[in-house]
Amino acid sequence: MFRCNSKKIAWYLSRNLANQIAHDSIQLNFQSKGLGHVGDAYHLEDKSNLCVCCGASEDLTMHHVVPDMYRRHMPEVLKSHASYDVLLMCVRCHASYEKAANELKKKIAINFNMPLNGNGQSRIRLYNNIKIKKAASALNRIGIPEDRMRELKDILLTWHQQATDKTNDKLDNIIEKALMLPDYERNDEFVEHGKYVVNQLLKDCHYLTGLENNSIRKKWPKLEEFIYLWRDHFLKNMEPKFLSKFWKVNNNIYVIR
Ligand SMILES: [Zn+2]
Repeated sequence: MFRCNSKKIAWYLSRNLANQIAHDSIQLNFQSKGLGHVGDAYHLEDKSNLCVCCGASEDLTMHHVVPDMYRRHMPEVLKSHASYDVLLMCVRCHASYEKAANELKKKIAINFNMPLNGNGQSRIRLYNNIKIKKAASALNRIGIPEDRMRELKDILLTWHQQATDKTNDKLDNIIEKALMLPDYERNDEFVEHGKYVVNQLLKDCHYLTGLENNSIRKKWPKLEEFIYLWRDHFLKNMEPKFLSKFWKVNNNIYVIR
């Protein structure tokens, strides 16, 4: 069984996907995927399309309670349960919470000793490429003294020979190739703030054994706390008047199977 609003009931009935068993309930004609959110009051509840904070019904946007910069580095088993941490909010409430969220991010940066813009340079300037590009664009200009011209050609041809092992390309083609060289490359040693924080939290990993189907499940208590921290921060800062009473800070963060 699952709960849905009257719009959805009409949607299933109009497609012959369900039989009406009472004015407000239907039975699906097909087997739905999995058991759904069994026993989970929040997911069984009807939800209205309103801002959870102020009740506005327009200019709504999806708000991720745990910012994307952290969420994207979390294990798949948490990401697929993330709908719980996606709430409808109007753009005004969203913008006002963003300011508070930035303050929390700054605190996290201090606690983890990892700046928000990461550690180190995210990209490396390729000075040699820049020198070759400068030579190539100078060769395109007119009125350059012959001596200088020869120097520039030399820079360009040496680069081209080393890079391609070819000696018979036309100068115009070489200039064209040189002008396409990138000025920067990614620095593999750069550490992203979100990735670093989540990796630190994942180090606290516990294994649950003796489960019904003999499976082993992982738990990350510190990561749980981190998600609870964001939920709590959101509730305290926004006091969302239109949020379900079943939405709780310490609701399970893992996929229910
Ligand atoms: Zn609002």
